[in-house]
Amino acid sequence: MTDRYDPQTIEKKWQERWAETGLYKRVEDPNKEKWYFLTMLPYPSGDLHTGHWYAMSPSDAGARFARMQGKNVWFPIGFDAFGLPAENAAIRHNIHPYKWTMANIERMRGQLKQMGAMFDWEHEAITCLPGYYQWNQWFFLKFYDMGLAYRDKAPVEFCPNCNTTLAREQVWDGKCERCGTPIIMKELTQWKFRITKYADELLEGLDKLDWPERVKTMQRNWIGRKEGVEFEMQVQGHEGLHFRVFTTRPDTVFGMSFAILAPEHPLVQTITTPEHRAEVEAYVEEARRKTPLMRQMEAREKTGVFTGAYAINPANGQPVPIFIADYVMMDVGTGAIMGVPAHDQRDFEFARKFGLPTPIVIVPKEAWESGDEYTWSEEAARALERAFEGKEGTVMVNSGPFTGLAWPESFNQVAEWLEAHAAGERKVNYRLRDWLISRQRYWGTPIPMIHCPNCGVVPVPYEDLPVLLPEDAEFKPTGESPLKYHEGFLHVTCPQCGADAHRETDTMDTFMDSSWYQYAYLSPYWKDGETLSPDDVPWDQAVGEYWLPVDQYTGGIEHATMHLLYTRFFTKVLRDMGLVDFDEPMLRLFNQGMILGPDGEKMSKSRGNVVNPDDYVRKYGADTVRAFLMFIGPWDEGGPWSPQGIEGVHRFLHRVWSLVLDEPKKQAKGEPSEKQVRNLRRATHQTLIKVTNDYENFKFNTMIAALMAFTNTLNAAKETEVYGTDAWEEAIETLLLMMAPAMPHISEELWARLGKPYSIHLQSWPQADPELAKEEEVEIAVQVNGKVRARITVSPEASKEELERLALANERVQKWIGDKPVRKVIVVPGRLVNIIAK
Ligand SMILES: [Zn+2]
Ligand SMILES: [Zn+2]
Repeated sequence: MTDRYDPQTIEKKWQERWAETGLYKRVEDPNKEKWYFLTMLPYPSGDLHTGHWYAMSPSDAGARFARMQGKNVWFPIGFDAFGLPAENAAIRHNIHPYKWTMANIERMRGQLKQMGAMFDWEHEAITCLPGYYQWNQWFFLKFYDMGLAYRDKAPVEFCPNCNTTLAREQVWDGKCERCGTPIIMKELTQWKFRITKYADELLEGLDKLDWPERVKTMQRNWIGRKEGVEFEMQVQGHEGLHFRVFTTRPDTVFGMSFAILAPEHPLVQTITTPEHRAEVEAYVEEARRKTPLMRQMEAREKTGVFTGAYAINPANGQPVPIFIADYVMMDVGTGAIMGVPAHDQRDFEFARKFGLPTPIVIVPKEAWESGDEYTWSEEAARALERAFEGKEGTVMVNSGPFTGLAWPESFNQVAEWLEAHAAGERKVNYRLRDWLISRQRYWGTPIPMIHCPNCGVVPVPYEDLPVLLPEDAEFKPTGESPLKYHEGFLHVTCPQCGADAHRETDTMDTFMDSSWYQYAYLSPYWKDGETLSPDDVPWDQAVGEYWLPVDQYTGGIEHATMHLLYTRFFTKVLRDMGLVDFDEPMLRLFNQGMILGPDGEKMSKSRGNVVNPDDYVRKYGADTVRAFLMFIGPWDEGGPWSPQGIEGVHRFLHRVWSLVLDEPKKQAKGEPSEKQVRNLRRATHQTLIKVTNDYENFKFNTMIAALMAFTNTLNAAKETEVYGTDAWEEAIETLLLMMAPAMPHISEELWARLGKPYSIHLQSWPQADPELAKEEEVEIAVQVNGKVRARITVSPEASKEELERLALANERVQKWIGDKPVRKVIVVPGRLVNIIAK
């Protein structure tokens, strides 16, 4: 008997050896295909939790597999180190955010190393260090020079608990994405990035990305491109007074039965009649307090009030009542819409609530062609249960001279008419808004701008970067930024006129930091401590030329419309700056699912179902935790943590250990038969094909299952004559190589104990031989009139004709057929033959 499997000893030993020998050092080798493998960088919360393990250890297996396949893989790591928790800890425990963050990083770095991942620690990036954030400031100035950074006074989403503004992407269901507090609106002057300038490109670029469809759809909806027509509507009885509406469906204009203005629309005051004024003003006041997301939630009951005024539908000259309703947004389109209830579900709900007519002006082509006039009659309109929003294959009805026109002609002709008769204009609108960058907190990158009483807003000169966060900050219990009261930080001489000026006290959204970190890894902290110039470059361009862009990215789906959109935008700007020659940062993306508590619920402290991975690493070792997380289910689906499950995976590793190192219980005597050897080699190569395919597609759960099954096969073969043969050696070697990406320590240890050269992680992925993997014979059931009457043994490649011939020639089958004529023979290759004889 050999010593038992002791993960604690071997894992530490190999982690040290890998580090000492620089196994995962980045090398730019032009003779190899480069593979930039990236996993989303963690926030240094203080503890590596199960979610981190679930995100990173399968990623590591993917990176290691690519490396064994001959790719030159680079797998860097860093910390997304700015953000609110550090500042809140500063307020609560009176510890500086820098100290809190760096202590957490120290601890998490240790935990990450225990995972045994092939991270390249030499290129670690930490975003809260001046060497990093000076580049945020440098980019900000570049964006400003390019007209992509600007200040804007507008109502913005504000979290009263976090005491800061948020980007619209950070408001979920009307609540703060971080703390869940309901958002309020505040009118503030804020810095924004002009992401909308790239809206079309961000949309089109999605088509060429190998990303999950789900993420692409979320981004498409978030960008919300709408092609339509804007036209003018006159207010009845107000000479020359008009407003513009935007619609994506000009072909439905004859179906308008009301118009809606956003409560903030400038015309509301003017047109509201005295008897409706009080109600309108109360409604406007109420709407002001709601966030855009709350106002636009589909499921919400539609509300609104009548202004007492009417507008003229330019298409038919009919007056329609003007309402205000909060589901119409001032910053979407023109802040005014035409209400076409029969063909827009939101308008339909509104019309039903206010008892407005729902004339039908669009029908399916078949209804039009069959001449079934009832389908567009007033009676049918009254009976409508929901709006008909169809577009392709529809025809205009009840639409004066346009009646009978089919889509898309209907769109074009009405659009042209509106252009000629109602000051119409074809337009494209977007749901996407510019990215709000300003945050009123301390622990972030100071925005490098100066406010001068003479010159207004003046950028900090490049050579004065970085604008450092003062270390002696005094944290207010309210969360208000200490920068606002820090005299040393505030006062500055205007770089243009020399007057006394003050610094911008807002800091940047931390999503700025993660928008370009994949580039920062290339040469972190470059020029740290030196002054910058506009001609500098934030990373070594030659190194970037080799490694960029990212080939494979992994991370959570929750970043779909935030980080994953911002980093695409950022890369397009970098391209326009001439820093990169591509326009998409990450070519492939995989979103892992979520690891849940043992109760199947989301892990949370309040629920008390949090699993601390450290406890399990101590008990079972990192390889077991890694393999268990890969085993629980498809990686993109996640699943619950199971204490029994991890025990089972741990036993599997013990089985492998004794399979490789222990002698058989009783050595079988004599030479193995040819068939025994063939069977063993077949199992080896079949497993290899399956495992290779699974690694390629990140199907880690079925990969582990295949390794378990193979181990069982080998355990049985070990007690037979094949033990010790070349086929046996091949099987064991292949098993260890297949395990290496997922369970890097135990495979390295067993590899070494077999006397093979260091390191298993420098070996090539074994080549499967499809000939050896082929099944030799398969058994086919032969049925006569649906009942199994015989079995025949054939080659798995036997053709339909051959199977039919063999089945009919079988003696037992012939007996059952007797003298009945054969009517039909059904052949399912590889499975059965059914003979119908009557
Ligand atoms: Zn909050
Ligand atoms: Zn000045």
